[in-house]
Amino acid sequence: MQGSQPVAERPRRPEWMKVRAPSADSRYFDVRKLIHGASLNTICEEARCPNIAECWGRGTATFQILGDTCTRACRYCYVHSGKPDGPADPLEPLRLAATAAKMGLKHVVVTSVDRDDLPDKGAGHYAATIRALKHKAPEASIEVLTPDFLGYEEESLRIVLAERPDVFNHNIETVRRLHLSMRGAKASYDKALWLLRRAKEVADYPVLTKSGIIVGLGETNDEVVETMRDLRESGVDVVTIGQYLQPSSKHAQIDRWVHPDEFRWFREQGEALGFGSVFSGPLVRSSYRADEQRAAARAVAY
Ligand code: SF4
Repeated sequence: MQGSQPVAERPRRPEWMKVRAPSADSRYFDVRKLIHGASLNTICEEARCPNIAECWGRGTATFQILGDTCTRACRYCYVHSGKPDGPADPLEPLRLAATAAKMGLKHVVVTSVDRDDLPDKGAGHYAATIRALKHKAPEASIEVLTPDFLGYEEESLRIVLAERPDVFNHNIETVRRLHLSMRGAKASYDKALWLLRRAKEVADYPVLTKSGIIVGLGETNDEVVETMRDLRESGVDVVTIGQYLQPSSKHAQIDRWVHPDEFRWFREQGEALGFGSVFSGPLVRSSYRADEQRAAARAVAY
């Protein structure tokens, strides 16, 4: 197995991190028109995801609700942080659902910024979005990738899971040792595990749970496996692992380029731990080919 390359020795992106530009004959431009026309945000754009040409070209995208301003400031994240402009837009769930229906999505992924300023931390808006999707796009499966609902965790889980999304996703993001320095004091490694474990207990149906890990922030490979073990012990069904890309000079520095062989090794370790699906690769993101991740996990679970 070939090993990681420290960024100090190889500052430029290696070959395996190169991505294609959008092609004129793909669905990229139609998707962009629909999303912008409905004044919706996507994490694809807000986080400058490297897969946007591929995902939008396939006609998929990941919606970001609750505005474009996050009340946290994780050191690896490009999403704008600050004080949000006001309450959630009550019409956003309807616009989102209508857009998902027009796009013909079979699996809709909804995420959000953190809204620690809202009394319910945004849980009610997630619930309204799921209800609108079930009405407008009844055939589509729904995945929510939520924040930790700081201080309102149990109530938020109950509010969101009462609407029966198919997949409950909450990203642990990094290993225990780096959690505080990367995510700040409001987030916690153990709380992320609790949220994922509790989601299964609160749901009165067989919800799939999912989480993601970013590598290249200074963790070791053993710590990645330890994090997968913690997730698995919390009942998580699906895990994603992908390479960190530093969005600007103000963000956390990349520590290493993880080699594709090591990503394959992570996948083998995760499969041995019993995950229904392990998506592990340089360009894998939490919502990358989320429909396939869910299908793979369901094939194992049912
Ligand atoms: S991987 Fe996720 S965030 Fe990135 S472009 Fe695809 S759907 Fe959007």
